[in-house]
Amino acid sequence: MSDWNYKIFWDEVLRQFKQELPQGVFSMWFNMEYEDSKENTIILSVSSKFLETQTKQRYQKEIEKKLFETSGINLKIEFIVKEKTKTSTDETDNIEVHSQDKNSQNNKNAGNRINNKTSKPKKGYHPALNKDYNFDDFIIGQNNNFAVNAALAISKNPGETYNPLLIYGGVGLGKTHLMQATGNALWESTELNIIYVTAEHFTNEFIDSLNKKKMADFKKKYRSSDVLLIDDIHFFQGKNETQEELFHTFNELYEKNKQIVFTCDRPPSELKNLSQRLKSRFERGLNVDLQTPGFETRHAILLKKMEKKTVKIPDEVLEMVAKNISSNVRDLEAALTKLIAFTELTKKEMTVETAKDLLRDVFGSSRQRNVTIDIIQKTVADYFSISISDIKSKKRTKSIAFPRHVAMYLCREMTECSTTELGNEFGGRDHTTILHGFNKIEEQITADPSLDTTMHELEKLIKEATNK
Ligand code: ADP
Ligand code: MG
Repeated sequence: MSDWNYKIFWDEVLRQFKQELPQGVFSMWFNMEYEDSKENTIILSVSSKFLETQTKQRYQKEIEKKLFETSGINLKIEFIVKEKTKTSTDETDNIEVHSQDKNSQNNKNAGNRINNKTSKPKKGYHPALNKDYNFDDFIIGQNNNFAVNAALAISKNPGETYNPLLIYGGVGLGKTHLMQATGNALWESTELNIIYVTAEHFTNEFIDSLNKKKMADFKKKYRSSDVLLIDDIHFFQGKNETQEELFHTFNELYEKNKQIVFTCDRPPSELKNLSQRLKSRFERGLNVDLQTPGFETRHAILLKKMEKKTVKIPDEVLEMVAKNISSNVRDLEAALTKLIAFTELTKKEMTVETAKDLLRDVFGSSRQRNVTIDIIQKTVADYFSISISDIKSKKRTKSIAFPRHVAMYLCREMTECSTTELGNEFGGRDHTTILHGFNKIEEQITADPSLDTTMHELEKLIKEATNK
């Protein structure tokens, strides 16, 4: 026992958070226990390094603020990581039964098994999953907060919380990472049969099975999964027979409360050449999007990636990279890899100047892709000699409605924004209005080649304005 005991303050602060936060959020992030006190410090335990990092990032300041308000003392918190082992005999019995019953498909009990890491025999990595795609290495920011919470919830209670979960967003924003992290977490903590495939692989395997008359095997394989993870489902567009098979697989798994997770490069409502009934299945559970990360998140991602490297890159260089590459995380990583390779080769310390030199091409193209809605609206308004407020207005005269549709079309082509976001930027319109504008211009371009030339001209002007 130490001379200090601040437990009473901790209990009070915990009670306040419990009142203020939604229940799901509270149980996810305040899953910690009071351990001890030392001078001006409260020591709490959490069950993983991941929880420690994330809780610190999200709540440390707020917790310490509340502790000060409650106690009048400047109390700090410290974490220790303690893997949980269950003590209740009931639960222990339960776990033993299930670990003997390896083929059990009753994933309702998966939740019981999840926290019981220590009693499991060690197994290797899942053959289809990249072990580096785990929750510990995934940085949480405002751009992906909701998606991470959903994935975490699933990795604790598969089949019970959000089913199916569909994660959508532009390229290189972490969809595959998050999906595989869910798979890895479940693989580590349960005996569930987890299948990860890309939609492309699923399609090829389906066709192959048809040709080789092995459909029964194909059906059996997918329909006996407990957790089915299908990456990049936009690939199913136009693949009618595969869609049909997936529809039946989905229904069977869904009926049995098996967990299904999809990723897609756009919201399902924007998928084309997809049967309505399959689309409605994709939309049935929870759809969450990944946005582009802000500067601080980009910086944190670079710092995280550096933790595993032996070479050092000065922080000012990392900051400069995070500032200049805002399009997506994949580009960010590619830039870092380039700097690391150069440092390893030359054995010299990386400077901001050298880094700028090395990454000149990357910065150029990334800036080009960094076209904003404002720039597009302004360029189009100038081009047609109308005002930006006209573009955002509800006026329907042709001289205004046409440029508006053009701007909507270009925004959809040149930015990573969703139609919902675009709707907001066009005077608070519904996302279907954006789609309507887009489709109208698309039709007109086909009918009138001179419009195509106008569009190219506008694209050029927008890129120039972006790079200024
Ligand atoms: P997507 O499937 O959306 O195209 P990926 O999941 O392949 O994107 O992510 C691209 C790269 O960026 C991966 O190497 C991934 O680890 C990394 N990445 C994306 N988001 C994050 C994040 N929030 N924290 C850490 N790494 C990330
Ligand atoms: Mg991917």
